[in-house]
Amino acid sequence: MTNSEPRGYHGIDIGGTKIELVAFAGEGRELKEVHRERIATPGTDFAEFLLAIQGLVGRADKALGLRAPVGIGLPGVIDSATGRQLSSNVPALNGRAVAHALKDALERPVAIGNDCQCFALSEAQGGAAHGQPTMFGAIIGTGAGGGYCVDGRLLRGANGVAGEWGHWPLPAAQLASQLAMQFTPAPLPVLDCPCGRRGCLERYVSGPGMSRLHQHLGGGDQTPAAIVAQARAGSAIAVKTMALHADLLGHALATLVLTLDPHAIVLGGGLSQLAHLYDQLPAAMRRHLFPGVRVPPILPPKFGDAGGARGAALLARQQLTDHS
Ligand SMILES: [Zn+2]
Repeated sequence: MTNSEPRGYHGIDIGGTKIELVAFAGEGRELKEVHRERIATPGTDFAEFLLAIQGLVGRADKALGLRAPVGIGLPGVIDSATGRQLSSNVPALNGRAVAHALKDALERPVAIGNDCQCFALSEAQGGAAHGQPTMFGAIIGTGAGGGYCVDGRLLRGANGVAGEWGHWPLPAAQLASQLAMQFTPAPLPVLDCPCGRRGCLERYVSGPGMSRLHQHLGGGDQTPAAIVAQARAGSAIAVKTMALHADLLGHALATLVLTLDPHAIVLGGGLSQLAHLYDQLPAAMRRHLFPGVRVPPILPPKFGDAGGARGAALLARQQLTDHS
């Protein structure tokens, strides 16, 4: 913290259907929510989107009593060369240099990151992994992504894609071991991914991915919560789906341990509410690690989805202190 640090930040979480702004007052690592507003996401018109954000930020400035820096979290990837938004589920933003346009429209610093990175940062500072030297926040929801934090700071990497584990491809050795362990009667199909590549992990371990695994094993089209309920009621296919899903996820998180060796992993997204994952994942990860490597604690989120705007505000502060 420096003497010139602002006494507040706005965090904006942009989703496909809603935009939420939370204004935080505070210095150092303490952030106190003072204002919150939620609006519908403008569909396709970028000018309308900019106006909506200007309105939100103007009202938040008044509530906070200062022109605060803005952090924004949104789904998708930003082209590191052009700053343009790629593969967003907000059509108005696709192909737009969102950070640049907002910096001009709001006349202040704007930090931008993806929703998974904001989630990780929120859980690293004041969240479930607070005080851990390193942590990984792994979102498993409609997609799969994440963020890696060191000493409470988000590590973004050269392209800003550090932590995009959902787009690792399923490894051949893992496919072979599933067959050997009789998790599946036949190899998993190699599925196309919206990112343009094939066989990405998120197609198998996300919420929709778990449903796909269930269908592959002969079950019906069910939500993850329904699959867990069926397993409890004695469905052998549902039990197998959960075991296969935990093994795939366990392999991915074990690979993460061998790459980044985080002191804790915090789960986020819809599947973080499935209690069995906290029981099954450590054993599943251990199967894919060699002896002597400790499995880090797998923790439920403190803020969860509500942490998106908070993480975005923390990202604004991180960017400002990086450049000060
Ligand atoms: Zn992909």
